[in-house]
Amino acid sequence: MKGDLTGGCLCGAVRYILREGLRFRPYACHCTDCQTRTGSAFSEHMLIAKQDLAIEGDLDSGACDQPSGAVSTIWGCAGCKVRIFAESDRRPGFASLRCGTLHRSAEIVPAAHLWVGSKQPWVTLPDGVPALAEQPRTQAEWLALVGPAAT
Ligand SMILES: [Zn+2]
Ligand SMILES: [Zn+2]
Repeated sequence: MKGDLTGGCLCGAVRYILREGLRFRPYACHCTDCQTRTGSAFSEHMLIAKQDLAIEGDLDSGACDQPSGAVSTIWGCAGCKVRIFAESDRRPGFASLRCGTLHRSAEIVPAAHLWVGSKQPWVTLPDGVPALAEQPRTQAEWLALVGPAAT
């Protein structure tokens, strides 16, 4: 998805504009942590440059340790608790947008599926889309899998 994108929470208190900038391609994560965090089967993430995200409204946050040892901090609406983006202490300057909060989320098509070893058995993945049992281990692998589109 190109151009400026807009999104927000359910109660309307939090609204954002994601300016066109450094934007990775979206991916779906089927890890059990994401299942618990979302209360659902998987989550949709898109890595962005934090400076491209202009957000309005009261946010609050919660932090948790990841298996890698990184600390992930999730930010969401202080009122309705919709989660908007997460930050990792290992990736300063970046944020991971929760793609379902985009107004045009129907246009989000994951470029990869991660942690499919723990995906819910009834989720059927599309043909031709990379699916990893776990996740990329290096920056180079991340870039190759879901790095910014060339065009
Ligand atoms: Zn809200
Ligand atoms: Zn996950």
